[in-house]
Amino acid sequence: MIKKVLIANRGEIALRIHRACHEMGVKTVAVHSTADTDAMHVRLADESVCIGPAPSKDSYLNMHALLSAATITGADAIHPGYGLLSENAEFAAMVEEHGFIFIGPTADHIRVMGDKILAKEAVIKLGIPVVPGSPKGVTLQDDVEAICDKVGYPVIVKASGGGGGKGMQIVRDHKDLRQAITIAKNEAKVNFGNDEVFIEKFLEQPRHIEIQVLSDSHGNAVHLGERDCSLQRRHQKVWEEAPSPALTDKQRKKLGELCAKACRQFGYRGAGTFEFLYEKGEFFFIEMNTRVQVEHPVTEMITGIDIVQEQISIAAGEKLSFSQKDIEFSGHAIECRINAEHHRTFAPSPGKVLGYHPPGGLRVRVDSALYAGYSVPPHYDSMVAKLIVRGKDRAECLRRLRRSLEEFVIDGIQTIIPLHQALAQNPDIIKGDYDIHWLEKYLSAQE
Ligand code: ADP
Repeated sequence: MIKKVLIANRGEIALRIHRACHEMGVKTVAVHSTADTDAMHVRLADESVCIGPAPSKDSYLNMHALLSAATITGADAIHPGYGLLSENAEFAAMVEEHGFIFIGPTADHIRVMGDKILAKEAVIKLGIPVVPGSPKGVTLQDDVEAICDKVGYPVIVKASGGGGGKGMQIVRDHKDLRQAITIAKNEAKVNFGNDEVFIEKFLEQPRHIEIQVLSDSHGNAVHLGERDCSLQRRHQKVWEEAPSPALTDKQRKKLGELCAKACRQFGYRGAGTFEFLYEKGEFFFIEMNTRVQVEHPVTEMITGIDIVQEQISIAAGEKLSFSQKDIEFSGHAIECRINAEHHRTFAPSPGKVLGYHPPGGLRVRVDSALYAGYSVPPHYDSMVAKLIVRGKDRAECLRRLRRSLEEFVIDGIQTIIPLHQALAQNPDIIKGDYDIHWLEKYLSAQE
């Protein structure tokens, strides 16, 4: 049994994990940088430890400081949240070597799935279709022209250690290929410390559809359906929904079962997400995330399952308390990521929140660590809140979303709430007729 969890994260996800723990009767330890002394998760946790100065590399990414904090507070488990160290295999291994439970998969699974090339190789063996492309990393010494001719233009050059939509280059013509590979390699080296890149067919009109899985350490795995995360800016999700407006029940069942089966064969432990691009009736795997996702609440809203509590139970060695047939999908849910950015220029807008009034009412959920008087620090990710609403169907969900966005007041800083208001009224969005390139096209048309 886990009695005390150290939350190795900040912001809304730290609060989300704290809430899951307290509902399970588990104590929490918050860690924070000097810039986050007044953060909500620090105020609510049972204990807190300052682990370093503002820059993440000196605090939230400082593995030794985190392990020391866990030791002095007597925590028995560490939850990494998302981002930061959540997909760092070395950290997961260190946590376990020091006798703590890592609330997540094994270091080996994180290592394989954290490398997009190895991940594709692994899932191909499990019968999951992938985006066509180079089977290995490429360098300028290879005959990259021949590889791309085989794949067919346009192609996308991606970092095998990539994340956060960074380090991708789209190439439509032979003549731009070598330069794109050079740029992608440099970006990959700077951002991920690993310059390996590979080539994939660039899909022109896909949707981003991902399957949520839960897998225990006793060989049981279930899927919780899909999320449609096609509305993206710079390859980063802005709006997510479940179920996808584009999928049939039959497709959901087939793809979901394929992913759950892959988890069983793989011996996977914990929560995970298989990400796919979906075009013309076909699914192509792009990557697996071995952690809780930002958008997990949309799945929670339509299944009633608390994914973070399940992560904690699985890490404690318990069996899943339900099987696939017990999971019911009910209604429709949408999540809007609310970033502290100007809604047209997307310039970051940190600063003091002068007024804060989140929306309420039936089937409205706000995951945020904001409060009036709080200063959003400039050092971290700009996402400051998530608004998640549920309706009996998509039409009701959109109506509830519009009225919730109208109620939402965050004064003192700029947010992208006006963008979400425009999206919630847009005819294409209302029809559910959009792909991964829709939002970029929409934003350029507004300029
Ligand atoms: P990251 O790990 O950086 O998030 P992903 O591989 O998950 O990278 O891709 C992020 C997004 O980039 C996808 O949701 C999609 O919008 C776009 N993308 C990735 N691969 C392709 C591809 N082969 N064709 C078209 N778009 C792609």
